[in-house]
Amino acid sequence: MVEGPYVGRFAPSPSGALHLGSVVAALASFLQARAHGGEWLVRIDDIDPPRTRAGAADAILRSLERLGLEWSRSVTFQSHARAQHLSACQWLLDRELAFRCICSRRQLVNQHYAGTCRARHILATVRHAVRAIGASAEFEFTDAVQGRYSPPSGTAADAFVIWRAEDLPAYHLATVVDDAAAGVTEVVRGADLLESTPRQLHLQKLLALSSPRYAHLPLVLDPNGLKLSKQRAAEPIDVAAPAHTLARALSFLRHPLPPTLCAAPSPEIIAWAANAWRLEKIPRARGLTEIGFGGHQRGA
Ligand code: GLU
Repeated sequence: MVEGPYVGRFAPSPSGALHLGSVVAALASFLQARAHGGEWLVRIDDIDPPRTRAGAADAILRSLERLGLEWSRSVTFQSHARAQHLSACQWLLDRELAFRCICSRRQLVNQHYAGTCRARHILATVRHAVRAIGASAEFEFTDAVQGRYSPPSGTAADAFVIWRAEDLPAYHLATVVDDAAAGVTEVVRGADLLESTPRQLHLQKLLALSSPRYAHLPLVLDPNGLKLSKQRAAEPIDVAAPAHTLARALSFLRHPLPPTLCAAPSPEIIAWAANAWRLEKIPRARGLTEIGFGGHQRGA
């Protein structure tokens, strides 16, 4: 585990405006950092050019400001850390903890990679991806919200892509390298990434990095039980009504705002929430619909 003063973070992809689900992740990670007297960082995860929307990063940062969520250091952009991502990838290749791969997605069997390229020695000049070797055992871990998580058996052995054939770092590698570089001690994020965590724990081990703690929040589901997503153009939050947005997010996180604060300025609401904050109040569920605010509750 990473020792030292608490460092938390919020790492949105700039693929659209903030919706209630992303506000829940931003707010919970912020309050958890506050509760520990720690730092809260904002990193824009912009390593996937086709998903990046012009102006989205700026809009996200302005919304966080309106919500009173102040970050502790300068905002970082994942795309600026390409040299560090590349050197981590090379470090793994040099130690044969990763290998070049020319297999296409069609060659996977039921989503599983058979390890075909591991013994092949693909030349660096050929268009290739890079895969990290799989783990010898499943990476079980205890999540601070979801409890014990065991990945489906058989998944640990799969080598997974850390550098994409498009010559871009893959999500797991960039996240692990950037979290470690910033000294992140706890990752608080949506439960859609719970299943990614065993691979990130494995990658931290291969790279000889300490692992942060993890807390995966229930996702905000729409009335049809689907995850709100920027890509599916979920309704953006109303930046003109920060108190209403904070009240919705706090209610979802089971910290309902006292009626006297329902129209208060953001800093007052944040001060109340920081004082009331208990991670244990968050339900152990992968997804929930909103309660109050017009939705009726449903678990997933
Ligand atoms: N950038 C990712 C997303 O917006 C989150 C990354 C993470 O929290 O590890 O879904």
